[in-house]
Amino acid sequence: MSGNRGVVYLGAGKVEVQKIDYPKMQDPRGRKIEHAVILRVVSTNICGSDQHMVRGRTTAQTGLVLGHEITGEVIEKGRDVENLQIGDLVSVPFNVACGRCRSCKEMHTGVCLSVNPARPGGAYGYVDMGDWTGGQAEYALVPYADFNLLKLPDRDRAMEKIRDLTCLSDILPTGYHGAVTAGVGPGSTVYIAGAGPVGLAAAASARLLGAAVVIVGDVNTVRLAHAKAQGFEIADLSLDTRCTSKSPRCWVNQKWIAPSTP
Ligand SMILES: [Zn+2]
Ligand SMILES: [Zn+2]
Repeated sequence: MSGNRGVVYLGAGKVEVQKIDYPKMQDPRGRKIEHAVILRVVSTNICGSDQHMVRGRTTAQTGLVLGHEITGEVIEKGRDVENLQIGDLVSVPFNVACGRCRSCKEMHTGVCLSVNPARPGGAYGYVDMGDWTGGQAEYALVPYADFNLLKLPDRDRAMEKIRDLTCLSDILPTGYHGAVTAGVGPGSTVYIAGAGPVGLAAAASARLLGAAVVIVGDVNTVRLAHAKAQGFEIADLSLDTRCTSKSPRCWVNQKWIAPSTP
């Protein structure tokens, strides 16, 4: 196996699919590792947070291979990987985590102490998150594979729903985590600010957790229409007319207007 291609950041507003190196069994510091697997990427998402880099809002260096929402098939494994086999179909959480440090043991894998020398917390294809190569690529390396990877148990059934299951790497659990940490349970009334993908994932999670009413608010009427079609109550914030002379500007009926004088 030799070639690989990935989505490479080339500066503000510019990305390109380019030839990149096939993954090596080593960490970004060049240390050989045996707890990793190499995946053939089956599906991936573009995240809203990729746009921070792509639009030039961060200190991301050119040449960064993007992508932290990865689903793939194990095609190589290090000798310390015990619970995964070649051919397994797996979902990759966007956090790179070791499973061994104090943060990981307390289930705070987003601030793992082992995977980024600069600060706690690592991610694939992301600025300042430990230089792990991204997975908007044909092949990707996943370290600490036994800990990080979620095996999809029935490969054929998983492939039938692979686009839905791709949301397991970030979007759905982000919304679910929000709903759980907000204390949503049977009978809850829930308001969700924002009808984007993560907002809708939070709404779906609130429903799964037994919420009696789920209301989704946004100024974007297209997104609201979609939320409504999924059976959620909606709050159209573009109709907010509480516009006073103290407001710098107001969003009314789908456009920004100058504040009215009293
Ligand atoms: Zn993401
Ligand atoms: Zn850790």
